[in-house]
Amino acid sequence: MAILQARRELLIGGEWVRTTGRLEVHDPATGEVLADIADATAQEALQAVGAAHDAFGSWSQTSARQRAEILRRSFEIMTAEIEDCARLICLENGKAWGDALGEATYAAEFFRWFSEEACRIAGDFRYAPNGDKTIIVDHRPMGVAYMITPWNFPAAMATRKLAPALAAGCTAVLKPAAETPLTALWVADVVQRAGAPAGVVNVVTTSQAGPVSEAVLADPRTATLSFTGSTYVGKLLLGQTARRVLPSSMELGGNAPLIVLEGTDVGRAVEGAMVAKMRNGGSACTAANRMYVHESVAENFSEQLQTALASLRIGPGIDRTNDLGAMVSLKERDKVLDLVAAAEGEGAQAVAVSQAPVSGAFLAPRVVRGVEHGSVLTRSEIFGPVAPIVTFSDTDEAVRMANDTEYGLISYVFARDNGQGIEVARRLESGMVAVNRGVASDPAAPFGGMKESGLGREGGFAGIHEFLETQYFAVDL
Ligand code: NAP
Repeated sequence: MAILQARRELLIGGEWVRTTGRLEVHDPATGEVLADIADATAQEALQAVGAAHDAFGSWSQTSARQRAEILRRSFEIMTAEIEDCARLICLENGKAWGDALGEATYAAEFFRWFSEEACRIAGDFRYAPNGDKTIIVDHRPMGVAYMITPWNFPAAMATRKLAPALAAGCTAVLKPAAETPLTALWVADVVQRAGAPAGVVNVVTTSQAGPVSEAVLADPRTATLSFTGSTYVGKLLLGQTARRVLPSSMELGGNAPLIVLEGTDVGRAVEGAMVAKMRNGGSACTAANRMYVHESVAENFSEQLQTALASLRIGPGIDRTNDLGAMVSLKERDKVLDLVAAAEGEGAQAVAVSQAPVSGAFLAPRVVRGVEHGSVLTRSEIFGPVAPIVTFSDTDEAVRMANDTEYGLISYVFARDNGQGIEVARRLESGMVAVNRGVASDPAAPFGGMKESGLGREGGFAGIHEFLETQYFAVDL
């Protein structure tokens, strides 16, 4: 398989820097090596921090309009080359072509949205209530932003951080996941071609995420951390950022409930559940992880869901006729199979609805019935194409079960109408709720979680503020 001319080296201070250490990137659909790329040491990562720090002085002084236009050009280049981006995502992540193209498009939109937001950073002016001074509130860029992204959305998680950081006037050091670094390198190249000055965006690929990140976070030139990944790693990193009281934006794990209420149109709920469960083959922090279905529609819902899942064509994502690609690695696939086996051990019944190719990290979707709330599948982030169904008889019970988790990223509610849906949505402890639809993500909306699903918000009007400090001037005018 011919691999695109993706960059393979570290991006430091506008130069592509070759390292002695190398890291292999694999295609999970075939197991083939796609590329060997730079494997940075902590010392090399600190050079990237230095380059970002050197660039910050002049970048933070550029006009908002200048920054906006570089971001707008990034959006335009990315849109013109969207299939190249989708192809890289398919190859290194394994996901289906439709998912990859959807992700690439969503990723490009963050450049467009934040090119608009760059010019709308508002301050505040008011008189103190006692009349003794005026209060002027300003927002200024924090400095060097360190960004760590996961493998499941290699383009969108990078642009969701880079775009607001650059719009705010910060410079960036991006560390993508070791499984999917090629897409992030491609995105950084787009921003370079759009005219970002040297050192504004730096990329460090490494097989040593722990020591490299610890060194970067301990460095006084690093001003903020923006992390997307598991709650486990997020907590480790919060321990490190606490030592320097470093601002930390955390987009962490999820355990999304999907509730189907009595009286819901089952066909519409299944259509929504397919998107909520199967976007990215189930490897999404937003994936519907546990389905709570009212007993009056549970049988019908399970059967229709099984039929819809069985109709998915499984195979390499790069073949555009396939609906479900490979998981990112055999290790991730086996983790999901272990969870299914544990659920069966608890007495649940898992049905594989189709056959997956035998070689490559493929997994046929499964519907799991007879699942009890509190059992392994309702407690764990499954991250694969497995749909556990729990039945309930009373809405209060469904709300209680939905909230009975340390996570709080997103929930889905399918109801008779939007009024009934919103009434239940207001009782759910999650940062986002999709009502009568299977997807909520939008660059113009605040993405983020409550409880152990995170701190802060990305996208929307809030996203840029993760990279801005607030400064207040007390003045006698
Ligand atoms: P992960 O293991 O936490 O890894 C995420 C990133 O952290 C990767 O770049 C990884 O590098 C790095 N990392 C791992 N250990 C580290 C350490 N000790 N110090 C610093 N960095 C470290 O998560 P994942 O398995 O890639 O992604 C899946 C998780 O991400 C799920 O829990 C999912 O819910 C969550 N997620 C959340 C959102 C959201 O917006 N809330 C979006 C997408 C995914 P290596 O690749 O080199 O290990």
